Amino acid sequence: MMEDNPVCLGLENITSITPTICSLMDVRLPDISTEDVIDDILSISKKKLETVVTKCLVYAPDGIGYFLTIRYKEQFKKMDDIAPYSIRLCSVYPPKTPICFASMFTGALPQIHGRDRPDRTVLKCETIFDTFIEAGKKVAIVAVKNSSIDLIFRERSLDYFTEIDDESVTRKTIELLEKDQHDLLVVYHQEYDDALHQTTPISEDALIAMNNHIESFIKLGEAFNTHWSKYNRLLLFTPDHGAHINREDGRGTHGSNIPEDMIIRHYYNIEKGKND
Ligand SMILES: [Zn+2]
Repeated sequence: MMEDNPVCLGLENITSITPTICSLMDVRLPDISTEDVIDDILSISKKKLETVVTKCLVYAPDGIGYFLTIRYKEQFKKMDDIAPYSIRLCSVYPPKTPICFASMFTGALPQIHGRDRPDRTVLKCETIFDTFIEAGKKVAIVAVKNSSIDLIFRERSLDYFTEIDDESVTRKTIELLEKDQHDLLVVYHQEYDDALHQTTPISEDALIAMNNHIESFIKLGEAFNTHWSKYNRLLLFTPDHGAHINREDGRGTHGSNIPEDMIIRHYYNIEKGKND
């Protein structure tokens, strides 16, 4: 069982993201979700808010590992104003995108949600999106066309925005923040993961992509604070897994039970709304 995985010892797991959001927004947990919340996030909420969180933006950049946040500390420091808090977490095994996001948004380990291979068919089990919809909340997923997030959470009554690249995902998300018709926005970017597979996790192209994700998150966070200032709100930066160099071909890859692939850092902030 992954709970006993020595790589993850003492760390929160990405399965805790769903119960944490549900608890803060007072929505029922998906039926297969763990009840294990991230106490640090809950205690920030207790300190800052008198009531529940009403709006949430989850920014999910693909493949940003914990080691990057240490090695390129200065770059990640730029996110301090937008998301001053962070937590080190463990991904799930195998650390492949559709498996990780299935865990992040069901609150369950792969052996429970059943997605233990990186296929992109629709996930049938209950997710945070289903319990949000049941609670009358409006959900949107904004993702690059044919990415895992674009495909595996289909067939639900939520708004899917399928874009051609990261830049148009950002543009669409800002438009949605301006329109203010949703309660939960999940936003996915993939440039870093694309670059690491073509080169290495610390190649020039990969670092350009990493910086683009940092800049995008800041831009989205600022728009989130501007357009949704009246609401109690939760902002999250939640990559799915890390990466390492494959010794055979010298390129970046992921899927192993090693710290480079399994350990990630999530950033977050909670702000009190002017009206909430
Ligand atoms: Zn990848």
